[in-house]
Amino acid sequence: MTETILAVEGLHKSFGSLNVLRGIDLQIHEGEVVALIGASGSGKSTLLRCVNRLESPTSGTVRFRDKVLTNENVNTIRREIGMVFQRFHLFPHLTALQNITLAPCKVLGLSEQEAERDARELLEQVRLEAKADNFPGELSGGQQQRVAIARALALKPAVLLFDEPTSALDPELVGEVLEVIGELAKQGRTMLIATHEMQFAQEVAHRVVFLHGGEIHEQGTPAELFRNPKQERTQEFLARILNR
Ligand code: ADP
Ligand code: MG
Repeated sequence: MTETILAVEGLHKSFGSLNVLRGIDLQIHEGEVVALIGASGSGKSTLLRCVNRLESPTSGTVRFRDKVLTNENVNTIRREIGMVFQRFHLFPHLTALQNITLAPCKVLGLSEQEAERDARELLEQVRLEAKADNFPGELSGGQQQRVAIARALALKPAVLLFDEPTSALDPELVGEVLEVIGELAKQGRTMLIATHEMQFAQEVAHRVVFLHGGEIHEQGTPAELFRNPKQERTQEFLARILNR
C-alpha cells in the first residue's frame, strides 16, 4: 500500500441544527481513486468542500500529508487539492486558454509563456486543443467540463476532487468527460470522485465509499460493494440507482 496522502479524521459538519457530517474517517493513499456514492443530501458535496476548505469543519481534522489543513493558508490547500464542480464554474469572460493560465500565473508565479505552454498541453490532454480561444459560452457542457478539468490540473495538484462532474451534462456528453477522468486514473492520479455513475465507479475506482446520513455506511472494492453489498441501506440505494 502506498503512503496516505489525505486523512479525514472524526469530521463533523453542521449547518445550524442540521448535522450533515457525523464523524467521517477516511484515508486516501497516493495513487488511489475513491468513488464517493450516496443519495442526494447524504453529504458528499459537504465532505468534498470540507476537504478543500470551501467549508470549515465543525470539528475533526483533515490532513494532507503531514499538514493539518485547518492550520494552513487556504491557498496552500487549493494548490495541492484541486476541485472540479458539477457546474464547471469557468470564468465566462475568459477563453478556455485564459481560464487555465490564470491561476498558474497568479498562484504559482509562472510567466505567461510558461503558463500558456502548460495550458496547451493540458488542452491536448482533454482533447480540446482546437478550442483554446473559445469562450465557455461557445462550448458544450462536456467541453466546458473538460476545460475545468484542465484548469484544475494546471496547478499540478497532488489530489483531485470531483463533485458529480457529469451530473449537469446531457447524457450524450457524459462519456467524453468520464473518459478523460478515466485516463487520469490510469496515470496514477489520486482522486476522490462523488458520482452517480455506477458503471464508471466500478471500472475506475479502487475503492467505493457509500455515504448515508452523513456517515460512511459501507466501503469496499467495487466488486465487494456492487456485487455483494452487506448493509441493507447500501442494497436499497444500489437497487434504486441501478434500476433507474
Ligand atoms: P449531497 O452532495 O450528497 O447531495 P450535500 O453535502 O450537498 O449532499 O448536502 C447535505 C445536506 O446539507 C443537505 O441537507 C443540504 O441541504 C445541507 N446543506 C449543504 N450545504 C448547506 C449550507 N451551506 N447551508 C445549509 N445547509 C446545507
Ligand atoms: Mg452534491
